[in-house]
Amino acid sequence: MKVGIVGAGMVGSAAGYALALRGGASDIVLVDRDAALARAQAEDIAHAVPFAHPCQVRAGGYDALTGAAVVILSAGVAQKPGESRLSLLSRNAGVFREVIAGVLAAAPGCILLIASNPVDIMTEVALRASGLPRARVIGSGTILDTARFRSLLGGHLGIAPQSVHAYVLGEHGDSEVLGWSSARAGSEPVARFAVQVGAAITADVRARIDDGVRRAAYRIIEGKGATWYGIGAGLARIVQAIRDDQRAVLSVSMVTPEVGGIPDVALSLPRVIGAEGVIATLQPELAEEEAEALRASARLLKETSEGLDG
Ligand code: ADP
Repeated sequence: MKVGIVGAGMVGSAAGYALALRGGASDIVLVDRDAALARAQAEDIAHAVPFAHPCQVRAGGYDALTGAAVVILSAGVAQKPGESRLSLLSRNAGVFREVIAGVLAAAPGCILLIASNPVDIMTEVALRASGLPRARVIGSGTILDTARFRSLLGGHLGIAPQSVHAYVLGEHGDSEVLGWSSARAGSEPVARFAVQVGAAITADVRARIDDGVRRAAYRIIEGKGATWYGIGAGLARIVQAIRDDQRAVLSVSMVTPEVGGIPDVALSLPRVIGAEGVIATLQPELAEEEAEALRASARLLKETSEGLDG
């Protein structure tokens, strides 16, 4: 399967590298406005291939995306000093419109996988700009937040994160909602599991895990300016679910017809991902305060995207 990546910066190249190491694609094509950067990243990633799985990695223009089944959009511009968030957003929306026109001219049948932040808003921008069905415009959303949540819960319970089923819902950002009430470990509600293994989830533990999930990106940004490895691996995971028609349940973003009374808003919910993109969306059972927090998250995203329109 050919996978395109538009935007060969830190996130795009990390996704390409993760894909190469996982064997998630037969062809990886990097496209960037900075053609020399795309060429350098492609060559560097290609040098990892002899140690991984057979795969072609190259750089090219939009025409090189012909036949791509998935195109990751990780292009974006950086915030100028003093620039407002909304102005940055408008500029990035402009970048997306231009990029999507180029992508769809070459690969009209592709699934768009959005990685640029703020990812939920950019997913909505991409849906509108592309005219593709919603199920084929997927944002990486909270895939990484969910992984962090599972990892911290697993660490506390002394079990593998793979044995924890829990999701982070809503915005990939400050208003995200940790779905504690629907979290399960080995099919047990986590609170019951925790008591059985002598690791009760006290208010302190809960606050520590909540903070660990919510503040992770801030801590990384403090130390290295941005995040890329985790999200790169998350993007590769989504691509693999599409490539192998896995029907894996992943928390990703998509423009959702209605969430808590808010219409047409892009945010993350657990969704079944396969060859055609999003096959189904789950509405997890939520405690009242979680449902209210999810509504607030949806409202906030809706307001931001409406602000962008005006
Ligand atoms: P991140 O950390 O999110 O990956 P970067 O700044 O490292 O951010 O990467 C963003 C990339 O997007 C840059 O390499 C930039 O050249 C690229 N880019 C910006 N605008 C466009 C565009 N219109 N078309 C293609 N690539 C673009």
